[in-house]
Amino acid sequence: MSTQWESLANEHILGIAPYEPGKPIEELEREFGIPDAIKLASNENPLPPSDRVQKAIVAALHHGNRYPDGSGFYLRQALAKKHGFAPENIVLGNGSNELIELFVRSFLRPGDEAVIPHPSFVVYPMIVQAAGGVRVMVMLRDHRLDLEAMARAITPTTKLVFVANPNNPTATIVTANEVEHFMARVPERTIVMFDEAYIEFALGPDFPETLQYVKHGRKVVVLRTFSKAASLAGLRVGYGVADADAIALTNRIRQPFNVNSLAQAAALAALEDEAHVMECVRMIEAGRHYLYDEFKNLGLSYVPSRANFILADVGRSAADIYQKLLHHGVIVRPMTPFGMETALRITVGTPEENRKLVKALRSVLGKKPA
Ligand SMILES: *Cc1c(COP(=O)(O)O)cnc(C)c1O
Repeated sequence: MSTQWESLANEHILGIAPYEPGKPIEELEREFGIPDAIKLASNENPLPPSDRVQKAIVAALHHGNRYPDGSGFYLRQALAKKHGFAPENIVLGNGSNELIELFVRSFLRPGDEAVIPHPSFVVYPMIVQAAGGVRVMVMLRDHRLDLEAMARAITPTTKLVFVANPNNPTATIVTANEVEHFMARVPERTIVMFDEAYIEFALGPDFPETLQYVKHGRKVVVLRTFSKAASLAGLRVGYGVADADAIALTNRIRQPFNVNSLAQAAALAALEDEAHVMECVRMIEAGRHYLYDEFKNLGLSYVPSRANFILADVGRSAADIYQKLLHHGVIVRPMTPFGMETALRITVGTPEENRKLVKALRSVLGKKPA
């Protein structure tokens, strides 16, 4: 008998369920014979990168024969300036997903515990498991991270705590007050990773200013991304802010050219384009309110959102509603894999996309047209 590949594999990865990527939208259109399907499944920005950003990408394309700047010099400098840090406090990633992995691989030793909220971003437990860490899952409470319970779950072997704020898939936040109480209870040696992918949609007086913890020397990592409000999900660029010593450790294992030159140019241009972010944030906010009203009309409950997506309860099999919506050319995300059998996560789209979603939902739920 020949040796099986699985028997050769790193044992930590064998328990990980493979990530199931959705079908490309073009494939859905072809399969169902529908011309203009819409994707409200991955919390992307429905607006394309601004003209200014697209011009910067095209300009960078002319130098596509060269390797990117492996240090991300200009982008790190611009980010440092924006946040009042030194470039040594910034690490760039191929999306913030890569940074989650970089920090976990840099700090989590086999057998170390990581406290992870649930349901939350599926990437956290996957990466912890692949690194041989112990996942300590802490259930949400009323769709919000239960920071009290998470603090209680910390033991002397807890190396890392994940705080997705806003949380995905619930789109709720933990407040400045709650985070302050939490941080007072976290031991000095425990690393807290604040994943703030949706921060632009969540900002308000109650939203925590977590960069202060980095400034005050706490073991804190703040992750941000250009994938959501900045419209650059396809370019793959995110960044982490932390103490220079922590960043230096991640740089030991970071692939030198992890962020490509088009992504660096795009992100630099996007940083100077606050008007685009403001436009998106305003559009998403209006879209949230439109969808709340329509969900109410349809008799659906939902979790009020501080991000660009909404968790809605369809009161029946979400997998079934998801399938039926596909036939109307609308792709959403059923929460069945999280054990939420009747919940859909729906990304807020353009006004036109939102109307199309509502029309499809109304039809699928057997409600009369408005
Ligand atoms: C979308 C998202 C990200 C962003 O990932 P990128 O790799 O930067 O595209 C990070 N964290 C959460 C919780 C997200 O939902």
